Amino acid sequence: MAAEHAHLTLPSLRDGPLPLPPMGGEGKFGDWRNDRGFRERAIDIIFAANKETPMTNLALTDDLFFARTGMDATRVEKLVGEQLRGMDDGELFLEYSQSESVALDDGRIRSAGFDTTQGFGLRAIADDAAGYAHASEISEAAIKRAGATVRAVASGHHGTMAEPPSGTNRILYTDLNPLGAVDLSAKTKLLTDIDAYARGLDPRVRQVMASISGVWQAVQIVRADGSRVADIRPLVRVNVSIMVGEGDRMETGSYGSGGRFAYERYLDPANWKRHVDEALRQALVNLDSVPAPAGEMVVVLGSGWPGVMLHEAVGHGLEGDFNRKKTSAFSGMMGQQVASKGVTVVDDGTIPDRRGSLTVDDEGTPSGYNMLIEDGILKGYMQDRMNARLMGVRPTGNGRRESFGYAPIPRMTNTYMLAGGHDPQEIIGSVKKGLYAVNFGGGSVDITSGKFVFSASEAYLIEDGKVGPAVKGATLIGNGPDAMTKITMIGNDLRLDDGVGTCGKDGQGVPVGVGQPTVRMDGITVGGTAA
Ligand SMILES: [Zn+2]
Repeated sequence: MAAEHAHLTLPSLRDGPLPLPPMGGEGKFGDWRNDRGFRERAIDIIFAANKETPMTNLALTDDLFFARTGMDATRVEKLVGEQLRGMDDGELFLEYSQSESVALDDGRIRSAGFDTTQGFGLRAIADDAAGYAHASEISEAAIKRAGATVRAVASGHHGTMAEPPSGTNRILYTDLNPLGAVDLSAKTKLLTDIDAYARGLDPRVRQVMASISGVWQAVQIVRADGSRVADIRPLVRVNVSIMVGEGDRMETGSYGSGGRFAYERYLDPANWKRHVDEALRQALVNLDSVPAPAGEMVVVLGSGWPGVMLHEAVGHGLEGDFNRKKTSAFSGMMGQQVASKGVTVVDDGTIPDRRGSLTVDDEGTPSGYNMLIEDGILKGYMQDRMNARLMGVRPTGNGRRESFGYAPIPRMTNTYMLAGGHDPQEIIGSVKKGLYAVNFGGGSVDITSGKFVFSASEAYLIEDGKVGPAVKGATLIGNGPDAMTKITMIGNDLRLDDGVGTCGKDGQGVPVGVGQPTVRMDGITVGGTAA
């Protein structure tokens, strides 16, 4: 069997022991564990603010997919019912998306792309077989042609169509299109301001790269019973990378942030300067770094983005498809202890404004707060509709796709570990000799073996309970189920990352979030560069 691979990447790094960024409506992350009510209140506030909004997501997307294409909603509902007759499940996925990206490199605006795409994907499911056809032409004729193709999976099949997802009135993010709200000249000025500010901060700054990008995605899901669900998803991001040099030595540092909101907050100098300050801080730390040691040692992971460890070590391994096919290192372990006591990991698509959040997934299921591991015990998988049905469990709102060009598969949203009881200083103070890793470039995992690798972009030695010199080139290597049992201390400082991660699986990239408190792991293999 071919190994299943997945990975988490980011064009630029983030995190560090910084104050909580002024973005997202979450408040103090440390409160989450026992304060689910906070999030509900935050959602209520958004509801109140949007009361004047006259159009629902469904009405807005009806304009895009029906009024503008000449399709008739009632005829399309009937058409989908006809095409999917006798199937176990399936849906029509309609998508309209606008995206743009402006980048500055070496003092010049290098690219300013703007793109609009639209299309549909029609899926028919019979047992564990799925037929999928997609087209960029949104018309009833094209949907009919797609129907003929996807029905080929089910010759002779007489299934019963699965129940549609229950609806939701939840609003997790604005439906405003960020792309139109701020004009191009303001975005290019932001990037040139970043460049000038960075170069003025330190004479060792040699290169500055900065980018601002945004997406506005509108989707509508039409089911065989005629039910329709819509979602409108803004997504913006700003990244800054700085290269510094001293003599012959060059090092870089990067910082980015983003989420499902408008660009406006990036026009506030206090916010974009924070990005530059952090990128420069990292670059200068690396300028003074020494080669990383190698071998098995105690590793303390910082809070926030180092949660990429969870994404790789357990997240992918708890996706429903791998477990249904029994190709995950966690297959068959439901109800068993798979992590140290005290380790609780959730996948939560319901956090307002977050990069990984979704009102509904790409099958129309409302996203959820899904317990994966509770106090060390494996409690649940992340499911799309097909794998949930085949495993006899409920879909969890994790059926996602990169675009109409792909069938949905189980994917993570925001995956994080809940806070424990230790002060982060106490955790570092407990380590005689080890590694403190606070920033990572991303990672990858082999689902079947559970073996993961991720590389630190900012790390320090811990010597006699104190943070020592910075080290360069440390990679952490481990096995998912094994690594989770090596967690010996959990901090009280849960943070989510700042919103730049993209998860890749089966060739599909989707935006995700990660997070964790400071965590001590005993006996992790560090691949270093020291002789
Ligand atoms: Zn991933």
